[in-house]
Amino acid sequence: MATALYTNEKLPSPDARIPLAGMSRDELASALADFGIEPKKIGMRSKQIFHWVYNYGVTDWEAMSNIAKGLRAQLAERFSLARPELIERQISVDGTRKYLIRMAPGIEVESVFIPAVSKTGALCVSSQVGCTLTCKFCHTGTQKLVRNLTAAEIALQVMVARDDLDEWPSSSGVRKMTNIVFMGMGEPLYNTDEVAKALDIICDPEGLSFGRRRITVSTSGVVPQIVKIGEQTSAMLAISLHAANDKLRTQIMPINKKYPLAQLMDACRAYPGLSNSKRITFEYVMLKGMNDSPAHAKELIALLKGIPAKVNLIPFNPWPGSPYECSNWETIETFADIVNAAGYASPIRTPRGRDILAACGQLRSESEKLRASTRRKLEKENRDI
Ligand code: SAH
Ligand code: SF4
Repeated sequence: MATALYTNEKLPSPDARIPLAGMSRDELASALADFGIEPKKIGMRSKQIFHWVYNYGVTDWEAMSNIAKGLRAQLAERFSLARPELIERQISVDGTRKYLIRMAPGIEVESVFIPAVSKTGALCVSSQVGCTLTCKFCHTGTQKLVRNLTAAEIALQVMVARDDLDEWPSSSGVRKMTNIVFMGMGEPLYNTDEVAKALDIICDPEGLSFGRRRITVSTSGVVPQIVKIGEQTSAMLAISLHAANDKLRTQIMPINKKYPLAQLMDACRAYPGLSNSKRITFEYVMLKGMNDSPAHAKELIALLKGIPAKVNLIPFNPWPGSPYECSNWETIETFADIVNAAGYASPIRTPRGRDILAACGQLRSESEKLRASTRRKLEKENRDI
């Protein structure tokens, strides 16, 4: 994997123009106002440009045929439509694609496109570079937090994938990338506001045009942010549960000490719009000899009682130096049968992209830390949530 070339974000950008791709509607309007577009035309111009950028995915001002040539040239001098640099693209034997994107000097992010087996193909996006949490089974958890991603950087991950899959315009019918899951690097609920803002961009019907129910935000259980993200985004919720008793969960997921299961389940029950058609997905990684016995399955059923839920059983994906092994296949099937018999859908996720370290929990970029003081400040902010 490529290593960051720079470790200091303050190095001058080779392109001094203002990057436009990734801006929200409001940011675009105010950038056009600063540029000098007459106030009464800002609404129209920002609507036109928004549509070119997010529906057609244009990277060249010349393509904007409903904007006069002279104005296009002036806009091109001030604003760039370029994407961040795609440093590396790896394609797995099973078709999974992993992208390593340089968002800024020293800020490298991974996203993974998982093509459809049946109808839905999902892009797994990152919300932070690294993570402050240290779940024992997760590779990202071994990478210190570098920083939160901005809404623009989250939306750009979708745009880079759409470029690669050749799926512009957004409004065209059949697409390979139908869903977005926040299951890449980082904890989205330690970056709630930027994630919510990114969803506004990604779900805009005149732009990238994803339905909100096609977006899933996955959290390790940042309780105070759970209802908030539901209110702000109407996205689907996934909880990384992995254990159904506090002792075991705290052992493998230190966040459980701060927000134990009783609080987590209360937050799930309060999730806005929760219903049988809008169930919560509980993710459960199968760790050999740790959390995979029939007794654990029964404990899980008892915990979920009364919550419209689905359980995704994830065979543990190993990574260099990982301390666990994946449960045996029969053990996973027995576990799935018990949960299923209690009335919960319990699919076993087929690992995808393991050969290129693109499967759940295997992501980790080589971004260097920025200023230690900045990182400590962010880590403290996360702890305070
Ligand atoms: N931080 C968020 C989202 C990113 S992790 C969260 O924890 O939910 C995406 C999913 O992969 C989570 O359910 C996580 O628990 C799971 N995961 C992490 N490491 C894994 C591994 N080695 N094998 C399988 N799944 C793993
Ligand atoms: Fe962070 Fe999620 Fe990995 Fe835990 S599972 S370390 S919260 S990315």
